[in-house]
Amino acid sequence: MAIKKKEEKEKTEKKKSPKSEEKLEYVNKQGKRLDGRTVEETRPIKITVGVVPSADGSCYLEWGQNKVIAAVYGPRECLPKHTASPYKAVVRYTYRMATFSVPDRKNPRPGRRDVEISKVSAEAFEKAIFTEKFPNTAIDIFVEVLDSNAGTRIAALTTASVALADAGIPMRDLVAGVAVGRADGHIIVDLNKYEEDAPDAVDMPIAILPNSEEIVLLQMDGLFSKKEWQQARQLAFAAIKNVHALQKQALLKKYENSESAEKPEKTEKTNGSDVQ
Ligand code: UDP
Repeated sequence: MAIKKKEEKEKTEKKKSPKSEEKLEYVNKQGKRLDGRTVEETRPIKITVGVVPSADGSCYLEWGQNKVIAAVYGPRECLPKHTASPYKAVVRYTYRMATFSVPDRKNPRPGRRDVEISKVSAEAFEKAIFTEKFPNTAIDIFVEVLDSNAGTRIAALTTASVALADAGIPMRDLVAGVAVGRADGHIIVDLNKYEEDAPDAVDMPIAILPNSEEIVLLQMDGLFSKKEWQQARQLAFAAIKNVHALQKQALLKKYENSESAEKPEKTEKTNGSDVQ
């Protein structure tokens, strides 16, 4: 009886299969992507400042499914001493993905990808931080990706940038970024993993100093035509403006909250007890 039922189920699944094999549109006729976003829309971003009390500055960010935490220490003594510079602070950036942050267990040992992302991100921050003000010191930035769905290097940079500001490290500007790319011929902002794996995919993480629009990080996986590049650049810069606004908003929120905590409202004394 059970075998018959199984056979019937298989038959109905076979009938259904041509429909389920229908080509999924990365961007449909209404201009919507598979997750309902438009081509210029990023996933929802939520930023919380000051989440690691022992650090000089810290930040937690959720960018769609991506969850990232960053902690900053410094400027502090640069050890080992031979790595210090008498002219500027050394920026050290450590990007790591937690073993549980991806569907297939990630080797906890830092791989080539972690080393590469750490290197290019440190170079991006060297352009933002007034390193010349702190010779013989190190500024340590640690970023841990807790959950991921593409775009983590940009999510990490965005988080680290807010953590640096929270640590009071003088910078020319916050570093803000987004990944922009192509899926099925469409230029789209903030690709998710599914879009990043499209057959014709191009993925271009880009980070800038938003006020001067100086590019501090640009990587490209795949190739754009000149026209596509111009379109991608335009979409990316518009999206980054929004990311930058959210970073500033999160920082303001923390300091507005801490100011109001420092200044308690006037209290009246009634019958020996404080009444607000
Ligand atoms: N990823 C993974 N295992 C790894 C590295 C990456 O599953 O060891 C996933 C992860 O979700 C990541 C995505 O692949 O966000 C894209 O990785 P990529 O190297 O393009 O960097 P990202 O887009 O995160 O900056």
